Amino acid sequence: MVAYVASLELMKVISSLLPSNQNRSTIVHSLARALGLFSREFSPVRTIALVPPQSAGFTELNKYHTKDYLDFILDPENVVNGTDETKMEFSLKDDCPPFEGMSDYVRLVGGASLTAVKMLRQPRCDLAICWDGGRHHAQKSQAAGFCYVADCTLALMALRRLAQPSPSAGPTRKMRTMYLDLDLHFSDGVSQAFHQTSTSSLHLLTFSIHHAAPGFFPVSPLASKPTPDSDPFTLSLPLRPGASNRTFARAWQCVERVHAAFDPDYVVVQCGVDGLAGDPCAIFNWSLGPDEGSIGWCIGRVVNEWCGKKVLLGGGGYDSPNAARAWAYLTSVALGGPLSLDTQIPDHPYFPLYAPSFILDVPAGNMQDQNSEDYLCTLDEAFAGVVAEIIERMAK
Ligand SMILES: [Zn+2]
Repeated sequence: MVAYVASLELMKVISSLLPSNQNRSTIVHSLARALGLFSREFSPVRTIALVPPQSAGFTELNKYHTKDYLDFILDPENVVNGTDETKMEFSLKDDCPPFEGMSDYVRLVGGASLTAVKMLRQPRCDLAICWDGGRHHAQKSQAAGFCYVADCTLALMALRRLAQPSPSAGPTRKMRTMYLDLDLHFSDGVSQAFHQTSTSSLHLLTFSIHHAAPGFFPVSPLASKPTPDSDPFTLSLPLRPGASNRTFARAWQCVERVHAAFDPDYVVVQCGVDGLAGDPCAIFNWSLGPDEGSIGWCIGRVVNEWCGKKVLLGGGGYDSPNAARAWAYLTSVALGGPLSLDTQIPDHPYFPLYAPSFILDVPAGNMQDQNSEDYLCTLDEAFAGVVAEIIERMAK
């Protein structure tokens, strides 16, 4: 069974209130509904269950966020009455302005990803989807990059609490979770949260594929490719502009090798779609499918080839109809019945947004792929070293 976390309240709160993605949530879930993805008849392989999110309480959010940050952000009066100094302290400025309904938003988005994790407790549920989650830049006590709540980090922490030793894996094996981030931007909030060099991090590995360049948000020393001295459980695979399916197919070989070495029991994938062709960010030239290396192909590998339970989260994506196309398609992949990319967009209230193609596909554009063979070989080498290090440390 696939749990799909969504509700009218979530759509309204997120769509109408979040300044950076206005109306996106409604557009996303409306297309999924119009395509029949919520119908029991959609797939003979996996059934889908629509699950309303539980709003997260202070205690749940406080598992990661600081009390001071939550005291401020969860008090609706602070949107108007909070001092400029305090707003600065919590980085509630520039791309993260305080907004009316911010407290509901934080509780509901944080709660949505936690609800996805909770669904995995059910033996029948092996995959949970929360396209409204994936806010990977939020920090412990600061908003950042359109992200006010660290739902990915909270979900990973909740998984750690949820995870029980697997009877089949033997009594001593600790459950392992892999976080894979496919967003155009580096997962700084999540990677920093779990970045450790001690052996205590052996149960959790973060892996971000993203664009990195001087001055490109977010700037972080953790966004570079691995070195012999870096933490092999906090991984980055930076790509150059124009990254296409061909480049992602090569990058995916690194993902597969790391996945095989780490052998996780749970996988959380942040499926940000701002690297798709046509996104206003205009950095990558990734496409939805069907070729090897496309985002649909990558998610197909995760849901069909990898063992264990999975959570798929959303993330960036600033062309709302394309984000809706992508997440509808990925939902169909997760359900085991991939839609044809030629599928006509059904008549529904947001139909006009899908002009001029009015089909599901998000094809690649004409951008040149600047990831040369030489550059991709340096990634191969760096990750060969990482894989050897992971195997060595896991064996201890
Ligand atoms: Zn992004």
